[in-house]
Amino acid sequence: MPATTPITQDVRAIPRNLPEDGRANLVGQTRKCLLETLIAAGTPERQARMRVGQIWQWIYHWGARDFAAMTNLAKDYRAMLADRFEIAVPELVSRHVSDDGTRKYLVRIAGGHEVEVVYIPETDRGTLCISSQVGCTLTCSFCHTGTQKLVRNLTAGEIVGQIMLARDDLNEWPEPGEGTGARPRLISNIVLMGMGEPLYNFDAVRDAMQIAMDGEGISLSRRRITLSTSGVVPEIARTAEEIGCLLAVSFHATTDEVRNRLVPINKRWNIAELLDALRAYPKLSNSERITFEYVMLKGVNDSDQDARRLVKLIQGIPAKINLIPFNEWPGAPYLRSDRERIEAFAHIVYQAGYASPIRTPRGEDIMAACGQLKSATERGRRSNAQIAAQSRS
Ligand code: SAH
Ligand code: SF4
Repeated sequence: MPATTPITQDVRAIPRNLPEDGRANLVGQTRKCLLETLIAAGTPERQARMRVGQIWQWIYHWGARDFAAMTNLAKDYRAMLADRFEIAVPELVSRHVSDDGTRKYLVRIAGGHEVEVVYIPETDRGTLCISSQVGCTLTCSFCHTGTQKLVRNLTAGEIVGQIMLARDDLNEWPEPGEGTGARPRLISNIVLMGMGEPLYNFDAVRDAMQIAMDGEGISLSRRRITLSTSGVVPEIARTAEEIGCLLAVSFHATTDEVRNRLVPINKRWNIAELLDALRAYPKLSNSERITFEYVMLKGVNDSDQDARRLVKLIQGIPAKINLIPFNEWPGAPYLRSDRERIEAFAHIVYQAGYASPIRTPRGEDIMAACGQLKSATERGRRSNAQIAAQSRS
């Protein structure tokens, strides 16, 4: 196969790993929840805390999927666990590898729904972009996912399960006896920038991220997790308090008139209300700066005047502005701004004292770039004509 051809691998042959027989899944249960589960299953209370620690390490540090592997638990206890519980992650349906090394996974969850997960390797790190919902309730007019109705929220197990599944594929779990730091972390960063609005599935996202951050398991620092929101204002303070990760916001416009069209949630919470919530975030979460995402749409939001308005609006907020050249998808009602326009915009932002990186689209050949994700299996999508009409209104 020539090097330029994306590799598409059907992995349907891999055994299904979905909860099907009534056994409860332990993946996605927080420590507190797991403690209650084990006690309810008859584990004496004085032992339960220790059992949680042991099982936790097997699942999230070693990547075990089989209770039989948990050799520091008594045989009959392991048998009891296997009888009642399972360690299940979503099913990997297919894997596409781009020319640039980006991997896109199609993942099936209970009910037969599908979401996409993208792994982006870089020289000094690797970022996994995970999904929080099947589809999205919001209808941002430039976003492919926004053309698909919300089908359902993912569970915490399905969210953390995406990380576990990618670690399986990248062979990232430590070998028995291997110390921490023995090899470089392939998944060093997580971004909640896949399908869905994470703050409309708050509890599951929080639980999943708490599991991912736990030092005795996947152990990702809260500074290596970035949650991207379209601007669900009431949940922003909660994100700071209950998750404490980095925050990115899909800003995309500098007037309410344009933002109403691009990011319709702006009609509910406008730019001024959003900025108030963002001003409070760094202090509440003890994090350094907020990432403002700004998709560059030709002739819509990319003028010098927009750039100047943007820096004025965000004055006083520790920020980085990520300029995202629009990623086109079939029937999209916008065009990507020209390179020179994006650079002129970036220059104005930079001159005002903000980092203004232009994001390099990754995995475009496999439709893995930002905003291109959409599950092909889901019906009920809006037509291209409807999207175009909305973007003009
Ligand atoms: N729902 C969340 C997170 C998922 S979208 C949110 O909206 O923030 C991740 C980022 O990709 C967002 O900034 C989103 O606005 C951007 N995006 C969506 N469609 C895009 C497209 N076609 N091209 C470039 N960026 C896009
Ligand atoms: Fe949903 Fe985010 Fe896409 Fe808007 S940009 S439709 S919030 S996934």
